[in-house]
Amino acid sequence: MSELRGSVAVVTGAGRGLGRAIAEELASGGARVVVNYSRSRGPAEELVEKLKSEGMEAVAIQADVSEAGQAARLISESLEAFGGIDILVNNAGINIDKTMKKLSVEEWDRVVQVDLNSCYYTVKAALPHFIEKSSGKIINISSFVGQMGNFGQANYAAAKAGIIGFTKTAALELARYNITVNAVCPGFIETDMFAGVPENVVKEKILPRIPLGRVGKPEEVARAVRYLIVDGDYITGQTLNINGGIYM
Ligand code: NAD
Repeated sequence: MSELRGSVAVVTGAGRGLGRAIAEELASGGARVVVNYSRSRGPAEELVEKLKSEGMEAVAIQADVSEAGQAARLISESLEAFGGIDILVNNAGINIDKTMKKLSVEEWDRVVQVDLNSCYYTVKAALPHFIEKSSGKIINISSFVGQMGNFGQANYAAAKAGIIGFTKTAALELARYNITVNAVCPGFIETDMFAGVPENVVKEKILPRIPLGRVGKPEEVARAVRYLIVDGDYITGQTLNINGGIYM
């Protein structure tokens, strides 16, 4: 897809953070954007208004993508809103960080449900449409934690590693329909998810591990997503690391 203009992109969990930056990046290239949100209606609608005021096309659609039925409704309402879908970015994610000794089964299940199972639910629902038109770009947001593990994040690491396996398998199965599927693995990025980490931990434990010596910006990840979509016609089943070198 050499041109974003006129295409339709669904971005899950796009009310804030990385999802918001991805929605803005794709909209600025001319894509019509579905800003999915689960509970944060205010920020999602505010983003849609902002994009519209700048001459871009966007719509906010509520759906908790960790529920298969709601994920399917997100896809059908997106199709209704714009008449098609060209790009699906599975970005929604949560973390509940505890060592396994303290982690409950419910907390394990919740993170796997939101971070991993949601990707399958949206892809499953969008597949008939992508197959029918013999094209589609799917980007799944994983994490460096899924590649290298991280203390206190067994549930998150497992879900994010699962996304990589899912991405490769989906890429294999869908290549024949001209659908590409790739994963993006951000390192530590300045968003609300990262804001919970105490400052002294950032300074003493995190920054020294990052060769580039700083955390990343949401826009830096968003541009990588745009690259995979716009220049990625011959890229599939890959994992693109945007992580300052923390994992090589
Ligand atoms: P964030 O908490 O700022 O944003 C996550 C978004 O997902 C929010 O808008 C939230 O409302 C939405 N969301 C959560 N559960 C949802 C659900 N069930 N249905 C629909 N939307 C839901 O976090 P972020 O940092 O912007 O994270 C975005 C993605 O990037 C996540 O998948 C996260 O795991 C991944 N990631 C983040 C970092 C980081 O350092 N920030 C690093 C690696 C990967």
